[in-house]
Amino acid sequence: GDGGGSGRKKPNILITGTPGTGKTTTSSLLADAAQLRHINVGDLVKQKNLHDGWDEDLQCHVVDEDLVCDELEDMMEEGGNIVDYHGCDFFPERWFDCVVVLRTDNPILYDRLSNRGYTGSKLSNNIECEIFQVLLEEAKASYPENIVVALQSDSIEDMSKNVETLVDWVRRWSPAS
Ligand code: ADP
Ligand code: MN
Repeated sequence: GDGGGSGRKKPNILITGTPGTGKTTTSSLLADAAQLRHINVGDLVKQKNLHDGWDEDLQCHVVDEDLVCDELEDMMEEGGNIVDYHGCDFFPERWFDCVVVLRTDNPILYDRLSNRGYTGSKLSNNIECEIFQVLLEEAKASYPENIVVALQSDSIEDMSKNVETLVDWVRRWSPAS
């Protein structure tokens, strides 16, 4: 990455993927290892009330995407952030130097989401989301091809390798001159 002339001294990374693929765990490890700020968008939405209520069908908050972007703008301009969210099409393209899409094999994802207490349509919707590669397609449609990377996240070994790969990438990244 060349920083795209953004003026950032540290890169911004988006970690996206279907719920349960390991975004929060991976982001947290990467934030520690590469000294970046971990922004869990779901938590931020709850803490700062960046939503318009609760969607009963989908069993989740109706996120106010404009409020989320306003809230993040200054930090993103500064750089050095890991944004952790199960969506990626409403952030400004200019924010990110790297977009990581985590992927998990279905039986493994099924177990993780069941353990999290997901059942019924909430469980099957998320499993379908992974089968149809919704987040990968969304990332490819929203960001330049050369900054989007899909990483498998089935095992602890996968996670360690992914963190290592990303730490290396952060170390090699330099701002555009
Ligand atoms: P997300 O933030 O994408 O919803 P989490 O990071 O909360 O996912 O992970 C969901 C669960 O799956 C957690 O219990 C986590 O420890 C486990 N997990 C995530 N990624 C992996 C992995 N690559 N290998 C083994 N367990 C994982
Ligand atoms: Mn999470």
